Amino acid sequence: MKIDVLTLFPAMFAGPLDESIIMRARKAGLLDLKIHQLRDWTHDRHKTVDDRPFGGGPGMLMKPEPLFEAVESLKRASTKVILLSPSGRKFTQAVARELAEQKDLLLVTGHYEGFDERVRAGLADDELSIGDYVLTNGALPAMVVIDAVTRLLPGVLGDDDSSRDESFSPGLPGLEYPQYTRPADFRGMKVPEVLMNGHHAEIEKWRAEQAKLRTKEQRPDLLK
Ligand code: SAM
Repeated sequence: MKIDVLTLFPAMFAGPLDESIIMRARKAGLLDLKIHQLRDWTHDRHKTVDDRPFGGGPGMLMKPEPLFEAVESLKRASTKVILLSPSGRKFTQAVARELAEQKDLLLVTGHYEGFDERVRAGLADDELSIGDYVLTNGALPAMVVIDAVTRLLPGVLGDDDSSRDESFSPGLPGLEYPQYTRPADFRGMKVPEVLMNGHHAEIEKWRAEQAKLRTKEQRPDLLK
């Protein structure tokens, strides 16, 4: 998959995407990630990307010209252009699965008070929010999307099954069941007997019950 990102803060992307599974995916050519500085598509001495909102109000808005030029130059026929914005539809594991089917994504991140409305209307195929809170700019949301989508690409996780049986997957009611590793007794906290008896069917039954219980307790909204 190819992912392009448009941002005013390319340096923020160094680190989180240079480690662990995402870095391995990049090295293996499963993810081709390119971070672009939006100011490269400005034409004035100050590399201006923002302006005051018509009608007044606090703060500045991302002006349309550099964003349109940048998207038009980076976009290919197969590219899905996604705006990161608190007003977007909620980014969930189901949306991550949907995006993992795409060939090319272009993530457009905002700053200041957000985008001139014509960016939303004229450029975006989709608009995503990572949650009901407001961050200073779209770099962290873009990294969240990149991470969640990349780990779903075929071949990225060592064992492809590991993304099938986890929280928010179709195979579970919502959240994942409790898991344990050695020691079997840690400071008096014991691993449930059922997990150590080797009866596959019993283990599956216990896990299904526990996943349901945990979801009911922690996230009843997911059971609706
Ligand atoms: N004035 C906007 C509003 O009330 O919705 C908030 C703009 S926010 C300060 C600046 C940028 O950060 C947004 O354009 C977006 O790219 C990004 N951003 C902030 N919170 C976000 C979220 N929850 N999900 C996705 N992007 C977000």
